[in-house]
Amino acid sequence: LRALIWDGAHARFVHDVPDPTLMPGTAIVRVLYAGICTTDLQILAGYMGFRGIPGHEMVGVVEDGPDHLRGRRVVAEINFSCGRCPSCLAGRGRHCPSRAVMGILGADGAFADLVRVPTANLHVVPDTVSDSVAVFTEPVAAAYRAEEQTRAFARGRTLVVGAGKLGLLLAQVLAQRGDEVSVMCRSDTARGRVEMLALRAVPMECAPLGADLVVDATGSPEGLAIALEHVRPLGGLLLKSTVAADHHVGLARLVVDEVTLIGSRCGPFEPALAALEAGQIAVEPLLEAVVPLDRGVDALAQAGLPGKGKLLLRP
Ligand SMILES: [Zn+2]
Ligand SMILES: [Zn+2]
Repeated sequence: LRALIWDGAHARFVHDVPDPTLMPGTAIVRVLYAGICTTDLQILAGYMGFRGIPGHEMVGVVEDGPDHLRGRRVVAEINFSCGRCPSCLAGRGRHCPSRAVMGILGADGAFADLVRVPTANLHVVPDTVSDSVAVFTEPVAAAYRAEEQTRAFARGRTLVVGAGKLGLLLAQVLAQRGDEVSVMCRSDTARGRVEMLALRAVPMECAPLGADLVVDATGSPEGLAIALEHVRPLGGLLLKSTVAADHHVGLARLVVDEVTLIGSRCGPFEPALAALEAGQIAVEPLLEAVVPLDRGVDALAQAGLPGKGKLLLRP
């Protein structure tokens, strides 16, 4: 198969990677689209020390596996948990200590023609959801995770810091439940996207907003400090950025102002697919371009430029 490979120093396109073999409890999925995410760029900066085929946002068709899945169009939850440990048995499979994570930790990902995924992780895509919409299921699910974790602040004034792909999905999901959402953005391109989604844009250099809930979706180590400036006492601060670098920020304000700090990673696919099927979350405005897989190295370089929308790889 053909794939993009990260060897710890370089990303390169390779023609002759051995095909994944079907193992019990898994399916082989032919990738239709794979999305490039800021986490992929962080992996290329050293995050998780990953080596192999990156890519964790994908839609594909099951090529080999159980009969009921063969030929079905699917999306895949990215945490491959053991299913047997105390975390898994308590329903915390996304935090299974021996998990692999597709394209991030110990399992090859979707920047390839084929990817092997545990069948338990697959969700069949409703027919009315197109391929280029379905590929957003994973980041939309991550936005629903933030929604689940911040219900104490629902319908208040919410600030999303960062108008990138994930920021705009978070803003839509939180607006959907009734939050009064502003999105802090750096560029005119970003502002344009925010306003196209009928959300309020605020500039980076605005005065402290005193928001009930602030979400850091900058994907950069600076996001936490910016978010801290804008949260009100007793407010919530949700961190959605996974960064390879360390944060350098004083946390005394968290203590003095009793701010609730919430870390947030992967989320539930069911509400994400339902929202995409119902057309409640617009993903087309986030789409920048579709790039053939063999030009993926170039696409990875492009994806990090400020103001870029989602780049999709097509094997
Ligand atoms: Zn991602
Ligand atoms: Zn487990």
